[in-house]
Amino acid sequence: MAKMLVDFAPIVERHERLGDSLGLELLVVRDDLLPFPLPGNKVRKLERELRDSSVGEVLLSNGGIDSNHCRTLALYGARLGLPVHLVLHSSADQGSASFDLLDLLGASYDVVTSAQIGSTLDRVETAYHNRGTAVRRIAGGCHTPAGAMAYRDVGLQVIEQHRPDVIVVASGTGATHGGLAAAAHGSHTEVIGVSVARNADRGIAAVLEAAGWAGAPTARVKFADSFVDGGYGQHGLATTAAVAHGWSFGLPLDPTYTGKAFAAMADDEFRDAYLRNKRVVFWHTGGLMNLITDGVQHTARRGVENG
Ligand SMILES: *Cc1c(COP(=O)(O)O)cnc(C)c1O
Repeated sequence: MAKMLVDFAPIVERHERLGDSLGLELLVVRDDLLPFPLPGNKVRKLERELRDSSVGEVLLSNGGIDSNHCRTLALYGARLGLPVHLVLHSSADQGSASFDLLDLLGASYDVVTSAQIGSTLDRVETAYHNRGTAVRRIAGGCHTPAGAMAYRDVGLQVIEQHRPDVIVVASGTGATHGGLAAAAHGSHTEVIGVSVARNADRGIAAVLEAAGWAGAPTARVKFADSFVDGGYGQHGLATTAAVAHGWSFGLPLDPTYTGKAFAAMADDEFRDAYLRNKRVVFWHTGGLMNLITDGVQHTARRGVENG
């Protein structure tokens, strides 16, 4: 058995000035602070996923070249002393700061087109098996029962301690959102997932699957799909404005995940419908690396001469 990792207590901050700017009571769960330099929700998911990993096992997974799941898996593989192999997809011959990190962490990887992901994973797995090496294949994004259960458990802690009316969280593969929805099941807390890519049909099915893994297959799933702003890894002015709003009040946000979730919070119609005058937990899932690697669309600021 690989050595147990740390169980992180939730870091909950009160953001009074930012909350006032939105007309609500704002608490922020800072999963973006665990642990440097690759913080975010993948830490909680992978920490649970890897608890029963075995020495000698190779960890195999996949994602985009800037996947937080893949970077974090490489970090935890290095900490646990388990080899990591990643199948990364990319549409072009892109460079990425991720490669430097993966190299430093000692992970190996293939870069393929999205059509080649499945066959490459199979080929790599067979090659390890033929050498007598055990392989643990982890679903992309760590969309796994362990990932959902990790978020159910930390969600229960936050709901019990802070009794929020609403939790707002970025929803991607759905394990984080589903785990939190399972935690809120049967309480007065409403969990709203803000989609970073998927439309409601596809998104809700994945979130319900994850809620089921976490023991609540009939959990209420509230899924907002009007803030995807161009799709996964894309963003426009609404997301840029939301990212700038957060940073200007001292809350770091990124354009791929948390900026989209925050765009919902900053939207007048959405706020009137779900959030105004309520106690709201914004569940910060990380993403600083996405800001550093992707940047945001810049609006020039020239001070006084702009009037
Ligand atoms: C992966 C990721 C998400 C989405 O989490 P899911 O559990 O896949 O829905 C949200 N925010 C950040 C920063 C992420 O890296």
